[in-house]
Amino acid sequence: MTDKDKGVTIAPSAGFCPGVKKAIECVLALEAAGKKPVYTIGPLIHNKQVTDALEAKGIRAIDTLGQAEDKSGVLVIRAHGITPAFQQEVAALGMEVVDSTCPLVKKVHNVIDHYAKEGYDTLIVGDAGHAEVVGLLGYTQGKGRVVAGVEEAQKLPPFDKVNIVAQTTQKEETFYAVAEIIKQKAKVYRVSNTICEPTKQRQKETRDQAKEADLVIVVGGKHSANTARLAKLCAQMCKIVIHVESETEINKDMVFTPKKIFITAGASTPNWVIEDVARRVRYLREDKV
Ligand code: SF4
Repeated sequence: MTDKDKGVTIAPSAGFCPGVKKAIECVLALEAAGKKPVYTIGPLIHNKQVTDALEAKGIRAIDTLGQAEDKSGVLVIRAHGITPAFQQEVAALGMEVVDSTCPLVKKVHNVIDHYAKEGYDTLIVGDAGHAEVVGLLGYTQGKGRVVAGVEEAQKLPPFDKVNIVAQTTQKEETFYAVAEIIKQKAKVYRVSNTICEPTKQRQKETRDQAKEADLVIVVGGKHSANTARLAKLCAQMCKIVIHVESETEINKDMVFTPKKIFITAGASTPNWVIEDVARRVRYLREDKV
């Protein structure tokens, strides 16, 4: 511990993942190039501060294609990706489209597509209804199911041939625990660990650092699934874990006594929010405050 960091470590992988970073840079570049309006199909990220800042620049999240009224604008597909059927609808609009699907999500599309065409069912370990998962289901030839964890997996009927994949932000333990159950239920199975490398790195780093910490602060939207998952993972490693959206939720009682504090954040948390939290924590740990 140095006096400068006050026993506070920020996870190097905290904050936007490469896929989200790329999608945000893409819309900002379009806006800077004078494209107007820039529509995104759904919010680029589950973070209000970011979506408000984009909105102020005329970058609008829409829920349905009908809301893309000005056809001289550009439509951006976000990092989560979409189904092939939806892709066709988008193409039929007759407006400029920029596909910002994360290449690592595209990889999952290809894995699902490959085995689905060979007659495999697809089992996705993930959050039903999450945009990425909805997109993945589109590649399963109508033979896809989603489970959140082992409890739901246990209730599934037997399979002839099944390809087990993961939402890219899934927890590895959950994925492998589900895979073990499905293996018992299937004559033929494939275990395709499609959790993306940035997520794996984040999970490993979190595990290693959280177990050394006396307090973990997880920064991110209360509605962000990946932040909630990260907070859960931390709770297995460290007795005291707090999940905050911004520095305003931190008080001196929380952070003065713990010797080592580890700050991490979900993939949808902007770096400036993480920095603000770290600054406040270090400030509150000063004796004189
Ligand atoms: S979590 Fe992984 S796969 Fe998903 S957008 Fe980010 S980098 Fe891409």
